[in-house]
Amino acid sequence: MYRIVFIDLLAINYTMRIMKAIALLSGGLDSTLAIEVTLDSAIVSLEIEALHFTTVFCRCDGAQGECGSSAKKIADKFNLSVKNINNTSSLLEAVKKPKYGYGSNINPCIDCRISMFRSAKERMNQAGASFLITGEVLGQRPMSQHLSALSLIEKETNLKGLILRPLSAKLLEPTIPEKNRWIDREKLLAISGRSRKEQISLANLFEIKDYPCPAGGCLLTDPGFAMRMKDLLTYQPDFELNDVLLLNIGRHFRLNKDLKLIIGRNEKENHTLTNLAKADDILFEIADYTGPVSLLRGLFIEDDLRLAGRITARYADIDSSAVRLKILSDDTIAPDNITALNNTEIDRYRINV
Ligand code: SF4
Repeated sequence: MYRIVFIDLLAINYTMRIMKAIALLSGGLDSTLAIEVTLDSAIVSLEIEALHFTTVFCRCDGAQGECGSSAKKIADKFNLSVKNINNTSSLLEAVKKPKYGYGSNINPCIDCRISMFRSAKERMNQAGASFLITGEVLGQRPMSQHLSALSLIEKETNLKGLILRPLSAKLLEPTIPEKNRWIDREKLLAISGRSRKEQISLANLFEIKDYPCPAGGCLLTDPGFAMRMKDLLTYQPDFELNDVLLLNIGRHFRLNKDLKLIIGRNEKENHTLTNLAKADDILFEIADYTGPVSLLRGLFIEDDLRLAGRITARYADIDSSAVRLKILSDDTIAPDNITALNNTEIDRYRINV
C-alpha cells in the first residue's frame, strides 16, 4: 500500500515539473523525427534544447551552409533554441589517433560520436537537463550504430541510460526517461537497418517536408578524400587545420616524401589556395598565360620546382612548347624552359583520381 502511494506521488511530482532534454540535431530527417516522436511520447512537460555539431569535414559549408540552415529551420519548426558546436579539433585528434579505429575509409566514427556525446553531456549538465535525445537508428551506420558500439559509446561517456533513441527505443534497453515515466515507451518506435521506408512514411504522417537527403557520413567516409587524408597522415602526421582545409580543393600531387603540390581547378580554388598559402609555401603560376595557381608545400630544390611547373603546365591553357613560371610569393620569374608533362607521367604523382 505504502509503495503504491509513493509511486503515484512521484509520477504527479514529475508531471508537474518541466523536464529538460538536449537533442542532437543534424538537420536531417532522423533527428527531426526523433524530436517529433519524443514530444509525442512525453508524459511530463518537456523542454528541448538542440545542439548542432559541425566540423571541417562536413559535406556542406558547416554552420552557415545547408545542414546548419536545416537545423535552424527544424529548431524553428519546434520552437527550440539551437546551439552550434564546432567539433573540428576533437575530430582532428581522433583522425590522428583513433582509440577505436577507422570505418571503411578514414572515419573514426566511434571516437567522433564519443566526443560529440561528451560535449552534449557537458551542455546537459550546464543546462540542468535530464537526458539526451538522438536520431540514431540501430544498424543504420555500419561502424557507430550497431548495438555494441552504442553500448561502448555510453560506457565511455558515462551516459548509460541517459541517451533516448526514440526511433529504435523498443529494440533497446529502457532508458532512465522511460523507466521514470517521463516518456511513454509504448509510443516509441522499433526502427532498425538502413532502409529509410519507415522514416519516409513517418515524415508523411507528421507532414515533415523538404528534409535533406541522408548525407551518408562526412568527408572522411569519401574514398577520394580519404586518400588525400591518408597521404597527409603518412607524410605529415603533425598536420594542422590549414593542411586539412587544402584537402578539399584542387588537384593533389605527392612529389616526394617532403613535398606536395596542389593545383587550383578554377578561379575560386586559385583564390582559396592564395588565401591558405603559408609564409614558407611557394605560390606560382605559368607566366604570360591564364591558368591555375599552384601551391608547393614542403622542402624543395630547383628541380622540384621545375617538376611542379611541368605538372602545372599540363593544366594551363598554353600554346607554346616551353613556358616560364611566375613565382607569386615574391613576384619573380623563374625557372624557364618548362615543358608540360603528359598524363601518364603525371599519374605517378597524383594522390587521388
Ligand atoms: S561520419 Fe564523420 S561526422 Fe559522422 S560519426 Fe563518422 S567521423 Fe563523425
